[in-house]
Amino acid sequence: MVAAKRELSRLLIFGPPGAGKGTQAEYIAAQLRIPAISTGEMLRAAVAEGNELGQMVDSIMAKGALVDDGTMAGVVRARLVKEDARDGFLLDGYPRTRGQAETLATILQEQDIALDAVIYLDVPEDVLVDRVLARGRADDQEEVIRERIKVYERKTKPVLDFYRGDDLILSVDGNQGIDEVRQSIDALLGEST
Ligand code: AMP
Repeated sequence: MVAAKRELSRLLIFGPPGAGKGTQAEYIAAQLRIPAISTGEMLRAAVAEGNELGQMVDSIMAKGALVDDGTMAGVVRARLVKEDARDGFLLDGYPRTRGQAETLATILQEQDIALDAVIYLDVPEDVLVDRVLARGRADDQEEVIRERIKVYERKTKPVLDFYRGDDLILSVDGNQGIDEVRQSIDALLGEST
């Protein structure tokens, strides 16, 4: 008998700063024809616009700290109820805390939907700083990167445990070139869909 195939339409991409989440998220979203929803991008757009949200988060982002869970809940809820996310989405950069994972579970439950998978881009900590420095974003100074990695290890990485029980995690070796990571993802999506 053929094994039941796993349909992938509601996904998270998870991994440390510098793992290449944004790049791979765009690729996966295009492949699966779902929107890539990056909370970091949404916040950077708010900062660029200078709106109320942007003014509130600007200095927090500049330090490499996390925006509070309540603010992020509002941002994510408003985005996930939009029409284009109805049949699927790939969340990039959310959830980053246990509280955010619980909020996301509630938002999905309210809509009577569930996550299909968490794509985990695994990259060893010691190569992250160099990878992020090569990217050159405004919050990419070495000290800020170190802070972001510290916050990831302390607050974000434990979020993986939240998804372990449901067997949702698909691990990818992120310590390879962009094309090799993409090929690993292709193999994974091919197996799972
Ligand atoms: P990213 O583009 O995902 O690396 O996010 C850039 C910055 O935006 C982070 O360092 C945080 O300051 C903020 N940010 C993005 N997503 C979240 C989130 N889910 N929770 C808290 N802060 C966030």
